[in-house]
Parts: sequence; structure tokens; C-alpha cells
Amino acid sequence: MQIRLYTTMDRDVREFHPIDPNDVRIYSCGPTVYDVAHIGNMRSFLSMDLLQRVLRTVGGYKVRWVMNITDIDDKTIDGSRVGSARWLPAMGTQTGDVRENLRAFTTYYEDVFRQDITTLGIQPSDFYAMPRATDFIAPMMDLIKDIVAAGFGYVSDGSVYFNVNAYRKHYTYGRLFTIDVEHFREGVRIDADEYDRESVSDFVLWKGRKEGEPSWDLEIDGVPLPGRPGWHIECSAMSKELLGLPFDIHTGGVDLRFPHHEDEIAQCCAGYHVQEQANYWMHNEFLEIEGKKMSKSLGNFFTLRDLLDREYDPLDIRFAMIGSHYRALFNFTIDGLAASVKARERVQDYIYDLADVMAASVITEHRPSVHSLRTSVFAELADDLHTPKALAALFSFMNDHKAVTLSASDAEIVLGVLQELNNVFAVWSFGPRPAVVVPDDVTTLAEQRWAARAEKNWAESDRLRDAINALGWSMMDGKTSYTLEKL
Ligand code: AMP
Ligand code: ZN
Repeated sequence: MQIRLYTTMDRDVREFHPIDPNDVRIYSCGPTVYDVAHIGNMRSFLSMDLLQRVLRTVGGYKVRWVMNITDIDDKTIDGSRVGSARWLPAMGTQTGDVRENLRAFTTYYEDVFRQDITTLGIQPSDFYAMPRATDFIAPMMDLIKDIVAAGFGYVSDGSVYFNVNAYRKHYTYGRLFTIDVEHFREGVRIDADEYDRESVSDFVLWKGRKEGEPSWDLEIDGVPLPGRPGWHIECSAMSKELLGLPFDIHTGGVDLRFPHHEDEIAQCCAGYHVQEQANYWMHNEFLEIEGKKMSKSLGNFFTLRDLLDREYDPLDIRFAMIGSHYRALFNFTIDGLAASVKARERVQDYIYDLADVMAASVITEHRPSVHSLRTSVFAELADDLHTPKALAALFSFMNDHKAVTLSASDAEIVLGVLQELNNVFAVWSFGPRPAVVVPDDVTTLAEQRWAARAEKNWAESDRLRDAINALGWSMMDGKTSYTLEKL
């Protein structure tokens, strides 16, 4: 099926045509491993997972997916400093070697990250590579030297900077994110990795060594420049090393359009002499909590672990996030999550019902409309990963095709489509229907109600029925016994 994707470069949706359908190459900007990732970050990684799953399942492509691990920047260096309050016993004992400390600190959070994404249904085996920036310092140095040699970089005070003005004479700077020329501050150098468009100026490629920081030995034209890479150079060098340029799709959150991705492109064009780093640029919108930006000061800052502590099922969190369109703001609310728990459960029940029908349907008539499910749902996914519309199509089909109205062979067809769909959503189970476990407090209330009925104490019986309903269960009275069903 033809896939269409929104690319930030065009500010529009375009048909997706890979360079090689047997090797669709995707690069995703991954986490900075200085802390436990928050659920906003998780939304970004789930959007990337959705993309690669749609390409495989709906497009039928083979995918080579790379996500980097940023293990060197100001935050990781700070956390790994001797005496840092962020150092945990599980990271081992700090040594006098700052590079060893950095590795121990970031390895701890990389492991946490890998566990968290696995919990959310992102499979480690779907990645071609998850490179750590510090394992690619040599190609970063080569790229920096090439940028300088091509006349687009210069050394100043022991650091190396990108010369944006020289670059703008040959290329457009500001393709993903419009930058007014008036905002360009000529001759100004910026060392911070993150800056806004009011600060457009020469950005840092290599930061000169500071006392007590990890460093590597770069040399340009015989001049030793001990230091460490800037953030942007990491992704240019790693994407080229692992995917080759240009590759098909580059992804990240909307905040990365500028300066990170703009600077990645500039470095690739200047140093690798290509016209494009990637052919499609995809950016997911942010996640907010109850309509507000997530922040520590507002007290609405959650990690996945915080939500699991509140007994949320990670698959419900996955379904809620994947079920909203990746280019729309995602408002994470308790009510929204409850609605998505119900929606996932409805499909799950339908899957169990279909399996029952396959085993013992009384219907013999074939309904040709069962063949439309696959096309209607997959067409929405193919249209810029429109999961909400795909789910709407599925629910409309489920309304029109109750499992008990299907023949055994039609149920098998529908189940097959849902299995395929689950290659994208990865939230449903196709095993046997689990036995219903009634919670102890519900059983106790039911026993009390059964006794009250025997005594013809109808008021008490009604009160207990309400109490059972309030716990999410309903009690059906038979002649000699009762049954309990989940509401
Ligand atoms: P970081 O670890 O800060 O480099 O971020 C990792 C990814 O999470 C990047 O692609 C960011 O754009 C993305 N991101 C950060 N905050 C949010 C948020 N609130 N909602 C969605 N994505 C986010
Ligand atoms: Zn990046």
C-alpha cells in the first residue's frame, strides 16, 4: 500500500518513496542518558516505533532503524562528576578517570532507558543499532576536520565553530525552521547546544577541554585541541557511519527542528559534500499533562515508572499514546487514559469472541464486507500514520460485524487482519481468554448480598448491589446461585 508521510522540509504530506525498498533507513534522535526519561520522551520514541512498524507492516518494507544514545553533553558530564549528588551506588565506585565515570553513569541510565522502552512494547530486536556517541568520536573528529578544510569551520580559543555566514553563501540555512536573517548575529559564537532562533550565530562543533571534564585528542593542522564533541555533530557523524547519506527518514520531537536538526544538515552538507542528509524529516508533537506543559515545578512531571507505581498497565499507556496522531499535541489526562483502557479492552474482547466463534459458529453465510476491514484500517495508517482514523474504522467495523453474527471462516479472516494490525499496535493478546478473577472484596459483597436475599432483606440487597456495581462488577441472580460479570 502506498504510504504518505508529512515531511517538515516541505511542510506537507508526500508519497513515501524509499531509496531502496529492501533497506529503508531511519535515524531517530535518541535519549540523553543523564536521568530516567519522562513520558514526553516516551511519546517521541513510541511515535518512531509506530513509524517503523507501519513501514514494515503496511508498506511491506525492510527497515534499518538506528537510534543514538547521547552519552556526552553538559548534563551527563555534570551527573558523572566526582561527588555529584546524582551518582547512585548502583553505578559503582567513582574513580579518578573522568571518562570511566562518565561511562558508568550513562550506562546505568541507558539500561533504564532500554528497560522502559521494552516495557512499552518497543522491541530491542527492531533496532539495527543503538550507538553511543562516545563510541563514534573518531568519525566526529574526521567530520570536523573536513568542515574546517572546506572553509565552513574555524578554531577559536581551543574550540571549533561552524561558520554559518560562510555556509549561507552556498546553502540555505533555515530549511526546517524559518530563521529571519535579522536574527543572525554575525561574528557571535555560541557554546550552548540548545539555543533559540534569536541566538542564531556560529555554533560549536568541538568544545575545548575544561578542567575535570572528559576529553579526547583532536588535532587540526598540527594544533592539538583536546576537548569533546558538541551535540549536533554526534548525529551527523553517527547517521553517516551507520546508514550512509542521504538516508530515508530522520525523526525527533518538534523541539529538535531547530537548532539540532538544522545544524545536523548544515554539518553534513558542509563536511560530507551532500545536498541532503535525509529525504524525509518527521517530527512528533509534544505531550502535555492535563493541558499543561510538563515540568518539575508544576509537579506534573512523570516517568513511566511513576505511572506503573500507580498501577497503570504499560500497554494501556502505549495504546493511549500511539492511538493519538503523532503530529497533534497529546494531552495526557487520567480520563483520557481511562477511555483508552476501555477501547483497548473492547478490541481485546472482540478478539476473544472471534476465537470462540471460529470454534463454534452457527452462522454459515459469508459476508463479503469482512474483506474491507484490512483496506479501510491500513489506508488510514498509510495516510501519515493516522492511528485515530484507523481505530475509528476498526470500531465502526466491529459495530457492524458483531462476532456472533459471523461464520467461522469470516471470523478467521477478521482475526487474521487484527493479528496483522497488532504488528503495529502491539497491545492485544491472541492467546486463550484468561479466566476471570473476581477480586476478594467483590466476592465478599456478593456472598453478603446472596444471604440478604435469602432473608428477603431487599433494602440491604439493593445497597450491596450498588456497592458491587461501584467496584465495576455486576451480579446476576440465578435460581440456586449467582454469577459475577465485569461491567
Ligand atoms: P532528550 O532526551 O531530551 O534529548 O529527548 C529525547 C526525545 O524526546 C527528543 O526527540 C525530544 O524531542 C522528545 N521530547 C522531549 N520532551 C517531550 C515532550 N514533552 N513530548 C514529546 N516529546 C518530547
Ligand atoms: Zn540528534
